[in-house]
Amino acid sequence: MNFSDLTLPESLLRALEDKGYKSPTDIQEKAIPLLLEKDTDFVGQAQTGTGKTAAFSLPLLAKIDSKSGDVQAIVLSPTRELANQITEEMKSFCKYEKIKILSVYGGVPLDGQIRTLKKGRPQVVVGTPGRVLDLIKRGVLKLENAKLAVLDEADEMLDMGFIDDVKTILSELGDKKKTWMYSATMPKAILSLIKSYLNEPEVIKI
Ligand code: AMP
Repeated sequence: MNFSDLTLPESLLRALEDKGYKSPTDIQEKAIPLLLEKDTDFVGQAQTGTGKTAAFSLPLLAKIDSKSGDVQAIVLSPTRELANQITEEMKSFCKYEKIKILSVYGGVPLDGQIRTLKKGRPQVVVGTPGRVLDLIKRGVLKLENAKLAVLDEADEMLDMGFIDDVKTILSELGDKKKTWMYSATMPKAILSLIKSYLNEPEVIKI
């Protein structure tokens, strides 16, 4: 199978070609068409190294209205390193259709991130739960119009004690939002999060 079989926008297909991605990985082949075609909650059980970042980033970017200045999607990650990796990968996909992506995380001064958020008007925010919640509470990060939340490495966020922050953030998003979750393992607390916060999710395990 080729990426061109996946009904992705032309701008994303061109960027994939430039990156040298020829054919989708297993998780990409399964998740991308599903998420493009269906407006649904989603759970993917996949490890790092499977191509899961592109598996959620490509359909996410396809759903962003590049003309709107609202934050339309929020991606939560357990670490600053992963947040940066996701942001870099997403930016590389946006070479031909400008979508503004900003990463926010703890351990660096708030001021700069607040300024960039206010001035930059990102359409996608990628961040660690604590800092994201802080920015929401300060009224700088507004998620009322966000239609999508992605929880990447949910089991890691649980292990690092971020699960309550994740739940609070999910509650901040409007009723119409969809949630896509990736987790390598499915401990009880993750299953219970899925039950309480996701609505009849499509499940893919690889
Ligand atoms: P991930 O599991 O998302 O961390 O991705 C693992 C690595 O595979 C990253 O370096 C990606 O850039 C790369 N990658 C992801 N999808 C593809 C693909 N379809 N073809 C080639 N490389 C890929």
